[in-house]
Amino acid sequence: MAETAGMTDTKRATGVLASSGHPEAADRRDAGEASADGAWDLAEIRAQFPVLSREVNGHPLAYLDNAASSQQPLRVLNRVERYLRQQHANVHRGVHQLSAEATAAYEGARHAVASHAGTTDPAEIVFTRGTTEAVNLVASSWGDAFIGAGDEIVLTKMEHHSNLVPWQLLAGRTGCVLRFVDVTPGGRLDLDDFDRLLGKRTRLVACTHVSNSLGTVNPVREIVDRAHAAGALTLIDGAQAAPHMLTDVAKTGCDFYAFSSHKMCGPTGVGALWARRELLEEMPPYQGGGEMISDVKLEGSSWARVPHKFEAGTPNISGVVGFGEAARFLADLGSEAIASHEDALKCAALDRLGEIEGLRLYGPREERTAVFSFTYGDIHPHDLSTILDQRGIAIRAGHHCNQPLMDHYGLSATARASFYFYNSPREIDVLCDGLALAAEVFGGLA
Ligand code: PMP
Repeated sequence: MAETAGMTDTKRATGVLASSGHPEAADRRDAGEASADGAWDLAEIRAQFPVLSREVNGHPLAYLDNAASSQQPLRVLNRVERYLRQQHANVHRGVHQLSAEATAAYEGARHAVASHAGTTDPAEIVFTRGTTEAVNLVASSWGDAFIGAGDEIVLTKMEHHSNLVPWQLLAGRTGCVLRFVDVTPGGRLDLDDFDRLLGKRTRLVACTHVSNSLGTVNPVREIVDRAHAAGALTLIDGAQAAPHMLTDVAKTGCDFYAFSSHKMCGPTGVGALWARRELLEEMPPYQGGGEMISDVKLEGSSWARVPHKFEAGTPNISGVVGFGEAARFLADLGSEAIASHEDALKCAALDRLGEIEGLRLYGPREERTAVFSFTYGDIHPHDLSTILDQRGIAIRAGHHCNQPLMDHYGLSATARASFYFYNSPREIDVLCDGLALAAEVFGGLA
C-alpha cells in the first residue's frame, strides 16, 4: 500500500496567487454542475440542502467542515417537521393514535439505521446521544461489569477524545491499564504495535475506523481479527466512517460500533451503538429510569429487553426520526455513488493542495477520506480559518479533539477542510483561492 510522508511539504511553485481572481458568486453556485461521470447530478443534490445556497460574509457558502457536522437535506428537515407538527407524542407507552404513530416512526428509524449498519436485527441498535454516549455506554456498562484491575485496553494514538476519555475514566474506576498503538509518520496505525501490545490481559481493542484529523481509513477487519485472536473484544468508533460508507458491521467483524447522526445528514444529539445481541443481553443497564424496565418493585427491578434496556427515559424522538430519514436518504443515494463522487473530490483536492508551496498536509495519500488537515507556513490555523470565513469558506481550526495526535506531530492545531458528497470541485478552487488570499494577507510564508 503506497504511503506518502506524514507531512507532505510540497516543493512545486504554487501558481495559486496568479490564479486567485475572485470568482463571481454565480460561478460558485455550482448551477448545473454535474460530476465527472455525469451520473451524479450535483446541482440537483445541492438543491436538496437549503443552507448550501446561502451567502456568508457576502460570498456563497463553501461548507468544508463536514467532519465536524454535515448539513441536513430537505427530506430530513421535512420528516422531522411532519413528526413535530402531526405526530408528536411519547413513544412505547400510549395506546392512542399519536403515540402509535410516534412509536412506528421511532422504531421505523431503528430499522433504517440498522440497515445502514448492515445488521438484520434492529434490536442490536441502541439509540444514544451520539458516538460519545455510545462509547461511554460501553465503558460504563460493559467496562464496569467485565473489566478489573490489571486488565488491559488497547487504544491508538489517533483516537478522538470520545474514544479515549471514557476509557481513562474506566481506568480510574477499575485500575485497568490503557495501552496505545503508535501512529507512523505517514499517518497510519503501526500494525506491528498491535502484536506487541496485545496480550493475555487484553480485554478490549477500541479504535477509530476513520481518523477525524488525518482521514486515514484504518484496516478494521485486520485489527479486529488480531484482537479476537488474542481473546479481546473490539469497539470501532465509526463517527467518521458511517457518513461515507454503508457500514457492514458483520464485515468488520467487530463487537461494538458507534456512530453519530449529525455527521451523516441527520440531526444533532442522536446516534447509535450497534453491538452483538448476546453482548447487549449480558451487559447491565447503563442508566436507570422509565422505558428500560420490565417490572419495578420497591426492593428492586427487572429490565426491559434489548435494546430498550439501554434507552432509559423519554428519548430524542424527533432526532431519531430525522436520523432514520437521513439513513434512508443515504441509502437512496447509494454508497457507491457517494464513494465515487467523494473519491473524485479527494483526488482533486490532494492534487491541488499538494501544489501549494508551504502547505503541509497530514495523513496518508491512499486509504483515506476527503478530510484534509494542514498547516500553511507559519500562519496560525485560527487566522487561516478566520480569513477563509471572510470569503464564506467554513473550515475547522484547532486540535479536533485529537490532542494526543497533535502532540505526536508536535502541533497545537491544524486547519482542517473536510468534504462531503454535496461538495463541488469548484469549492476546491475556492479553498485554494482563499489560501492564496491568506498568503497575501500574512505576507511571505515561512
Ligand atoms: N469520534 C470521532 C472520530 C469523531 O470525529 C467525533 C466527532 N468529531 C466523535 C467521535 C464524537 O462524536 P459526537 O460528538 O457526535 O458524539
